[in-house]
Amino acid sequence: MTGVDLLVTGIGELATLRTGPIPRVGAAASELSRIDGAALAVRDGVFASVGPERLVRRSVHLRRGGVEVDAGGGTVVPGFVDAHTHVLFAGDRSDEVERKIRGATYLEIAAAGGGLFRTVRLTRKATAPALLSETSERLARMLRTGTTTAEVKSGYALTHSGELRLLELIPKLAASTGLDLVPTYLGAHAVPPERAENPDAYVEEMVRRTIPEVARRTLAKFVDVFCEPGFFTPSQSERILRAAAALGLGTKIHADEFVYSGGAALAAHLGTRSAEHLLTAPADDRAKLAKAGVTAVLLPVTPFASLSSLSSPGREMVDAGVPVALGSDLSPNSPVESMPLVLAHAVYSARLTPSEALTASTVNAAHAVGADERAGTIAAGRSADFVLFDVPSADRIAYRIGTVPVAVYRQGKHVSSA
Ligand code: ZN
Repeated sequence: MTGVDLLVTGIGELATLRTGPIPRVGAAASELSRIDGAALAVRDGVFASVGPERLVRRSVHLRRGGVEVDAGGGTVVPGFVDAHTHVLFAGDRSDEVERKIRGATYLEIAAAGGGLFRTVRLTRKATAPALLSETSERLARMLRTGTTTAEVKSGYALTHSGELRLLELIPKLAASTGLDLVPTYLGAHAVPPERAENPDAYVEEMVRRTIPEVARRTLAKFVDVFCEPGFFTPSQSERILRAAAALGLGTKIHADEFVYSGGAALAAHLGTRSAEHLLTAPADDRAKLAKAGVTAVLLPVTPFASLSSLSSPGREMVDAGVPVALGSDLSPNSPVESMPLVLAHAVYSARLTPSEALTASTVNAAHAVGADERAGTIAAGRSADFVLFDVPSADRIAYRIGTVPVAVYRQGKHVSSA
């Protein structure tokens, strides 16, 4: 009998997602490894026992001070992994919503001093304590809606020292909020206005100076590039990503979001960990992603928040044999913090099935951010990150649009809603 600190019983359905290859592709993306009438036990922040309730009860006992929780027949799933966020920024752009509704384009908003460069100006000016405080509040709300692991991109400083400053804040945010955060360097989010005369010089600085320092100081796990007309060309993107890969960093691409730019094909060619957005990636390029085993990180709330008529190609990617993961794309342009809401959009807009959406937001998202060893599944020995919903089956989480968890646990500790 193992002494445990937490015993959760009365779980109507436990979706462990522990069986199968990682990432899950095709029919395997619907296999949630469900256990009916389940329980789980946690010792020192790690799952000690998971399975049918009578077996778990037989194998563990509560330590002194341990807690037993009755799940009331609800559903437990792994803590969500948000595979794509721009959560680290200063300021607010809520006033731009009305301009968007009245028909202003992204370029018109940018020309009027709004958009991405407005956030860059505010982020450059913000003190570290202010950035930590604003971002912690967002991360705390993400945690309360079930996100226990999240990727965090830099990209709102767009200078050598400013980007390093943002990356340095990420471990502090992880420590203060308790989330498992995966840092990504996105100096290639856009060419900063003061470098617009010579974008290649900015690329050169990233390749020769910033990326080597990011690698040497292990400030990021991945390097990402916004490969899109008006941002970075496929050849500039390739130069940046090859430099990153040569230094042992993982690679990602923001690809084919607004118009077709060849970003997905480049991702397949380079064998990046992921290609993200992909609203305009054609069938040929979906086949290339599948062949190369590149994970498609889909962000189905972004076209919704952008008032776009496009939708994320969820069904198309799964049917093409591409591993699919989900992210919020949380940013001032797409201010969504709730993964249950992302799952709903993944189903009703991107046309993933509810099971595929759950796979895409747990085990496959963990793979997309290189956290497969520690996140995305529920099994003995893994970090006890899990979410309880008052629904009878995991399929109801996405079905009930924007549903709110009853409880969230990170490393076996109940996340307080206070
Ligand atoms: Zn993004």
